[in-house]
Amino acid sequence: MSAIAAADIAWRSHWLQQVLRDDPDLAPPLNGDIRADICIVGGGFLGLWTAIRLKEADPSLDVVVLEKDICGGGVSGRNSGMLLSAWTKFSTIAALRNDEASLQLIDQSSGAIDGIERFCAENGIDCWFDRVGWIWGATCAAQVGAWQDALGKLAKYGRHPARPVTREEIAAMSGTSAHLAGAFDASAATIHPAISCADCARSPAPRRCASTKRPRCAASAAAVRSRSRHPAARSDAGSSFWL
Ligand SMILES: Cc1cc2nc3c(=O)[nH]c(=O)nc-3n(C[C@H](O)[C@H](O)[C@H](O)COP(=O)(O)OP(=O)(O)OC[C@H]3O[C@@H](n4cnc5c(N)ncnc54)[C@H](O)[C@@H]3O)c2cc1C
Repeated sequence: MSAIAAADIAWRSHWLQQVLRDDPDLAPPLNGDIRADICIVGGGFLGLWTAIRLKEADPSLDVVVLEKDICGGGVSGRNSGMLLSAWTKFSTIAALRNDEASLQLIDQSSGAIDGIERFCAENGIDCWFDRVGWIWGATCAAQVGAWQDALGKLAKYGRHPARPVTREEIAAMSGTSAHLAGAFDASAATIHPAISCADCARSPAPRRCASTKRPRCAASAAAVRSRSRHPAARSDAGSSFWL
């Protein structure tokens, strides 16, 4: 069985339902043994991006992603789809390490938004990337200005990730007057998480790679073994992706 049954789609996230109803053959199960240079366990964003980065670094590598369910079946396919810089965490991270380490992390998280946009454009992935920005809004007086500490500290390093916005500006942007004030970060974007997972999984190796070998995502060997012990187990949905 390769196509995912309708009953196995119905309970999944709204995002995954949209993708799987269009493409129920997205996740054919792994049948048989598989060999690879590198095996990654888990076909969420972490595993899929790791596979892509490995192939970018060395196109000759044969990379397999083992997924016990379907790629994106974990939280990667059912999150809020927001691409945000970590600037709001500047003070917290700096307290754990120091300003320099915190700044580095925040710059990298900002760069990741641009990187994802670029990757999708280069690989023809339409994951509904939309640079809509986001608002850190205050819905009560005690929350007003909560963003000032991070913004003030970042300004000293020449970083201005967001600008204060009034209640009226927020209402004009979001359609709700529930917020008293806020900070607007124009760099933030939204994506369709399940399309991102599916297309990262399907995505060919970056075009500059000469190798015809591509990262592969296949059903968990553990799941296959568990299926043989428990034929009715959910591991029937075990998947394989050949990229
Ligand atoms: C409600 C919610 C909203 C969120 N919103 C956002 C957001 O807007 N923006 C954002 O950036 N982050 C958001 N996050 C966080 C983000 O979704 C996670 O950090 C990210 O998806 C984690 O990816 P992952 O690959 O580590 O884990 P997962 O997506 O959980 O992937 C792990 C995979 O491993 C598989 N697996 C586990 N064990 C095995 C095994 N033994 N063999 C084979 N496969 C196995 C699982 O089936 C799963 O598919 C949100 C999280 C939640 C809970």
